[in-house]
Amino acid sequence: MPADVHHLPAFRCPTCKKPVARDAEAFPFCTPRCKLIDLGCWASGEYAIPGEPAIIPEQPSGDEF
Ligand SMILES: [Zn+2]
Repeated sequence: MPADVHHLPAFRCPTCKKPVARDAEAFPFCTPRCKLIDLGCWASGEYAIPGEPAIIPEQPSGDEF
């Protein structure tokens, strides 16, 4: 089955300018991450490279050996 996407204009993510599928979960952003960035994460001054997962350090439960 041939791809039939050529007749559709490419929509680009406002954040990273990558082409975005119209059924993307975070449309018009390519990913929820880009959506968060656009919402103001850039202003925090602490921003990781797009694609890096946000790692939240686990708190010790207090019942370690
Ligand atoms: Zn993006």
